[in-house]
Amino acid sequence: MELYHSVARARKAFETGRSKCLDYRIMQLESLKRLFTERQKEIADALKKDLNKSEVASQLYETMGLEGEINLAVKNLKSWAAPRPVEKNLLTLMDTVYIRPEPVGVVLVIGAWNYPWAVTIQPLIGAIAAGNAAVIKPSEVCVHTAKVMEEFLPAYIDKELYPVVTGGVTETQELLRQRFDHIFYTGNSMVGKIIMEAAAKHLTPVTLELGGKSPCYIDKNCDITIACRRVAWGKYTNCGQTCIAPDYILCESSIQDRVIAEIKKAVKEFYTENPQTCTDYGRVINQRHFKRIMALIDDSTVAVGGQNEEANCYIAPTVLRDVKPDAKVMQEEIFGPVLPIITVSGLNEAIKFINKGEKPLALYVFTSDDKVRWRLLTENLTFQLSIQTNFY
Ligand code: NAD
Repeated sequence: MELYHSVARARKAFETGRSKCLDYRIMQLESLKRLFTERQKEIADALKKDLNKSEVASQLYETMGLEGEINLAVKNLKSWAAPRPVEKNLLTLMDTVYIRPEPVGVVLVIGAWNYPWAVTIQPLIGAIAAGNAAVIKPSEVCVHTAKVMEEFLPAYIDKELYPVVTGGVTETQELLRQRFDHIFYTGNSMVGKIIMEAAAKHLTPVTLELGGKSPCYIDKNCDITIACRRVAWGKYTNCGQTCIAPDYILCESSIQDRVIAEIKKAVKEFYTENPQTCTDYGRVINQRHFKRIMALIDDSTVAVGGQNEEANCYIAPTVLRDVKPDAKVMQEEIFGPVLPIITVSGLNEAIKFINKGEKPLALYVFTSDDKVRWRLLTENLTFQLSIQTNFY
């Protein structure tokens, strides 16, 4: 019932028209930005408890990007909101023709837990900048952060226009029964389908920020040390719980041992000999995910890491060697600190392998050969969302 009232209040607040006023939008965004500096400690403490994020990582990966996003919106708001002239055609020759950006109404933002501030507040910034009301639903999985959001967001931004509602699956499903004008969801694809189905009942447009298995191709013709340092950084940051983390490596068997040795070296340099005691190394979010990740490993060979402790959700940075394409770890997005290596005979097989999978979010390529880069860019059928390549 409370959920219903929050949505109804947000709509009523939207109908007052105050969220449309440009100065009001800017005021709200500036006030939101203040939250990140004034409540930095509470934000960092909660992230430490949820994911063992260090204070530096909390700022670097969560709030700094949001401050940048707010600055961008504040700087450009007037031009974004201004009507844009449109070229006339025969049918509009006698008219004044322009496109006028309008808020859509009440937006629902459903966040995930891995970068809980970044993925929940970024869409909120867009919603505020565009003049909408927004109902904010943080992920219940990051228990402490959800509490901080519930406590502090209403103290900094208009609590009627931008209410925070907390809860798990039941509450989210209750929310989804109500009508919104846009739904912005970040999370896994299975729930993405539930969101889309619920939205379809009201013909509500959706933005789905999902996950996937992002491949990483290491060509034998590249600086393997640099490649492995970069892959180790991308994979083990936030304990592998990053939507665009390299999910698996494809390389020729002739360089597999070298790749393993270089990743091992990078892990030691980044997280010391014992990552469990290193303040920069995170934890798996909870025991359900710990068990899920550990179950993915048991039919493959561990080459690096593998140490774990369920009681504090610790899994060491891990590399698996000679992984079979039908191994458990290759059947779903790993979303944890486990990096399988699959050997291929060369580029042709790598491209074929990647094209057999679902669309990932990113592709990482390490090569100094322009032809390899070009072929990976042009022959991959799967990359419709974004392509990220690392060349040098
Ligand atoms: P999660 O478990 O926190 O779920 C996300 C949200 O969906 C939560 O708010 C939760 O309450 C809600 N939810 C969960 N089950 C539901 C159900 N049955 N019905 C209705 N709502 C439900 O997060 P998660 O899904 O574990 O997040 C990790 C996934 O998110 C990974 O796949 C990752 O790649 C992806 N992700 C993508 C991006 C991106 O920008 N593309 C960013 C971060 C995470």
